[in-house]
Amino acid sequence: MPKWVPSMLKKPELTEYRTLLLSLQTRLRGDVQHLADGALHRADGDGDSKSPTHIAELGTDNYEQDFSLRFVENEQEILEEISLALKKIDTGTYGLCEKCLEQGKPPAKSVIIKERLRAIPYVRTCMHCAEQQRTRKWRR
Ligand SMILES: [Zn+2]
Repeated sequence: MPKWVPSMLKKPELTEYRTLLLSLQTRLRGDVQHLADGALHRADGDGDSKSPTHIAELGTDNYEQDFSLRFVENEQEILEEISLALKKIDTGTYGLCEKCLEQGKPPAKSVIIKERLRAIPYVRTCMHCAEQQRTRKWRR
């Protein structure tokens, strides 16, 4: 990965996003564990479950089990995105659009707007590139 001038973001901002990412990571890790337990050990009694509308408790057929596991998979993907984003904070490329950089734009022109980063702190692309990606159906 090429090294840019230490990011387009100021240090307090980076700290803010890092905090956001870390808390999201913690929350997802907790949920993933809980869900995986529920999906894989559903035959066991769940006496200590405190969430009233937990997904794993909504049904007992295979469909429900599949659904729980698929949900875990998605969270796993998000967790991977989060650790990527955290790595980028360290290397100074956080907050820059991957697609723009691929197209050879300078970092200063590849900045993802703050509102977007706040909403999805692990996002990889700017609004413009995300839009293109969707219309061209690059992802499946
Ligand atoms: Zn872009």
